[in-house]
Amino acid sequence: MQANPERTGVAWCGSSAATCEFLGVRCRIIAEPDIDPALLAPWHVQVRDFAAADPMLADAWLASLARARQTPQIFVTRRPLATTRCAAVFGYASRRAGAAIVSLAGLDSDSPEQTRRRLQAVITHELGHLAGYRHCRTPGCLMRPAETPAELDLRRLAPCSACRRRRAWPLAAVLLAFCLAASLLLDTAIDRIRNRTQVFRWRADGAKGTLPLEGNEILRLRSPAAAQAAAEALNALYASMSPPPLEVTQTGSDVRVVAGSREVLAMRAVETEGIAPDQFARQWAARMDPLLQGKGPQERGCPACHVTRRGEVLEAMNQRSRWWRLR
Ligand SMILES: [Zn+2]
Ligand SMILES: [Zn+2]
Repeated sequence: MQANPERTGVAWCGSSAATCEFLGVRCRIIAEPDIDPALLAPWHVQVRDFAAADPMLADAWLASLARARQTPQIFVTRRPLATTRCAAVFGYASRRAGAAIVSLAGLDSDSPEQTRRRLQAVITHELGHLAGYRHCRTPGCLMRPAETPAELDLRRLAPCSACRRRRAWPLAAVLLAFCLAASLLLDTAIDRIRNRTQVFRWRADGAKGTLPLEGNEILRLRSPAAAQAAAEALNALYASMSPPPLEVTQTGSDVRVVAGSREVLAMRAVETEGIAPDQFARQWAARMDPLLQGKGPQERGCPACHVTRRGEVLEAMNQRSRWWRLR
């Protein structure tokens, strides 16, 4: 059964057209002088003597062609075709050469219409290869290999749905790989930004340690190690989108500044310069907390705006994690 060309993607051009198109591949047909043009009607055909040997080695011959610049070429001959692997083939396509060669040898039937239909089946199959289709096992599919003319008679002039899906796959795979790569790059960029949020630094000052922030000393500690630990804890809170608030805990004389379950400061390691440790801790926590929560101090103008922006960022992160889960 011959499929309707209009619905199969095969464009049957008028005799005046120099090229034909099949599933996006525009091609030119070149036939040897002994080919009856009626067998290729309504395709427009250029007549040229091109065959060299008998039988022709199709793969070697196509490899010797200069690559067709734009329009793929279909060569039609009466000589039997072979390849370096196969003793006899009806046709052979080379995407590298941008060309295919098909033979009428073995296609002849008592009915010229049947011969014409077989030749169309071979040409359309090779055009399928040039369009990127591979062989298929589906009975009746255009891309199912044929060894006999009877098998050509069963061949439809369109690839089956499995062929179309397979051909669509590489594009889908490329898109998926692109999405994954973009996502990984985004993760790396986020990590980099996170690592740059080392807002709190520490400095050794003799046997002591200090925490400077934009030129001001915000804390003086009894040892460089204590200063380092405090800076690390504060940086971790700063890098968190929603850090728990700073709180002061007291057990006997042991006063600490904590955020959730994380210890930020043990007041015994802090130089309070005469101020009671619990009072110092409360004042310090009250000064630092807006900075950790809003990522900027109140007097810098816009803590509300910082907080609003934070809401937007949180919403965007939620969206993104939902998207990850969907995948
Ligand atoms: Zn094939
Ligand atoms: Zn198929």
